[in-house]
Amino acid sequence: MANVVAIVGRPNVGKSTFFNRLIEKRQAIMDDISGVTRDRHYGYAEWCGKFFTVIDTGGYVTGSEDKFESEIRKQVKLAIDEASAIIFMVDCRDGLTGFDKEFANILRTSKKPTFIAANKADTPDKSMLAAEFYELALGEVYPVSAENGGGTGELLDELVKTF
Ligand code: GDP
Ligand code: MG
Repeated sequence: MANVVAIVGRPNVGKSTFFNRLIEKRQAIMDDISGVTRDRHYGYAEWCGKFFTVIDTGGYVTGSEDKFESEIRKQVKLAIDEASAIIFMVDCRDGLTGFDKEFANILRTSKKPTFIAANKADTPDKSMLAAEFYELALGEVYPVSAENGGGTGELLDELVKTF
C-alpha cells in the first residue's frame, strides 16, 4: 500500500500550515482529480529518504453545529479510508475541546497509526501545554510548531517508521 498520511482536525488548528511545511521542499502537486472534493489537497513529502503523499483535509465548515459534526465524520472517514497513517492536529493554545474529543472517538475506531500533533507549541512553555492531550488516549503526543518547524522532526521520525 502506498504511504498516505492524512492531516485531520478541527478548523484553525494549523493543518494547512503544517501541510505546506511538509511539502515545502518538494513542489506541491495540487490535485484536481475529478470527483475529489475541493477541500482536500494532496502533496508529496519526503523524510529520511521515505516518500509519502500528504492529504490536507479542509474542515471549512460554516453554518450549524450539525453541519460541523457531519463534516468531522466525513473528514475522518476519508482519512481512515485513504490514509495509511493519520496526523491528528490539535491546538495547544486552545487546549482540549469537545470537537477534539469527538475526532478522537472516531479515530480510536480506526486501525491506522495515529499521531497527535499538538500545534502552536512555538515556545517551550507552550510545549508543556501539549501534555493535556494525553487525555485523548491515542498514544504519544508531539508538540509541534507548524509555523517555526519546532518538533516536526520528532513526529516525522516516528511517522515514517510506520511505512
Ligand atoms: P487549518 O484550518 O487547520 O488548516 O489551519 P491553518 O493552517 O489555516 O492555520 C490557522 C491559523 O493558525 C493561521 O492564522 C495560522 O497562521 C496559525 N498557525 C498555524 N500554525 C501555527 C503555529 O505553529 N503557531 C502559531 N502561533 N500559529 C499557527
Ligand atoms: Mg486548512
